[in-house]
Amino acid sequence: MPRYQTHLWCNMIVYALVISILMYYRFKLPSTYGELLVCSSLGSLFPDIDVKSKGQQISYSILCALVVCLICGRRFIVAAGLGVVGMIPLFVDHRGLFHRLWFIAAFSVFVALVLLQCMPSCGERIIMNSVFFLIGAITHVALDGGWRMVTRW
Ligand SMILES: [Zn+2]
Repeated sequence: MPRYQTHLWCNMIVYALVISILMYYRFKLPSTYGELLVCSSLGSLFPDIDVKSKGQQISYSILCALVVCLICGRRFIVAAGLGVVGMIPLFVDHRGLFHRLWFIAAFSVFVALVLLQCMPSCGERIIMNSVFFLIGAITHVALDGGWRMVTRW
């Protein structure tokens, strides 16, 4: 099982490759490079949320901050939904649901929709950040189980 540093390094290599391709084609990014690196790094640690890990510590810290912000903004139903989603890792096996790309993609869309509710003017940025989160998660799953695990839905 690769350690979290290995996942972060692998993510950095893929991130640099993707950014290089986007720069080559002069793609105009709505987000900063640092923001995208943070999102892809979070994505590269996220699948291990189902086991005691650095990814779990970071993910739950962010989830807790998000729920507090939503409660302060009086968005109780969204906060409750995030709370329920946050309990899912307690009921699944390691390298099960959270290492399935369909679930990670659905989770990215769910979080993006929640963030779009809170910050509707940042739509392009939120979508691009979600894509980089997903790229980071793909690097994690590929490093854990190879291409066979990436292609299993
Ligand atoms: Zn993993």
